[in-house]
Amino acid sequence: MHELGIMTGVMEAVETSARQAGATGVTRVTLSVGEMTEAIEDALQFAFEVLREQNELCSDAELQVNMVKPRSRCLECGAEFEHDRFHRFCPECDSFATELLCGRELQIDSIEVDIPDEEDAKE
Ligand SMILES: [Zn+2]
Repeated sequence: MHELGIMTGVMEAVETSARQAGATGVTRVTLSVGEMTEAIEDALQFAFEVLREQNELCSDAELQVNMVKPRSRCLECGAEFEHDRFHRFCPECDSFATELLCGRELQIDSIEVDIPDEEDAKE
């Protein structure tokens, strides 16, 4: 499953960042995912839920996925336009010579973590 591979990489990155920050747990992970990656939001959520059960730091984490619509620029007339995964021709001049500006991203926007306050860390 495509999404399981994606989320495995995301989880590793999240865990590394959380450990570096001295966090005791991750509460929320926000991702930006371009539609051109062909990842499906529901499948990403499912993969996240499967993986977080095997991950102590992320066991209570929630996943927020922001799907990013693909945008391209026409190399003929310079128009910029949004499109779906399959239609990348220019709506102004019908050219197929277009350049993808965004829609292939797969990035972690933010990670919210619990960091123990040193004042309260008496246990
Ligand atoms: Zn054009």
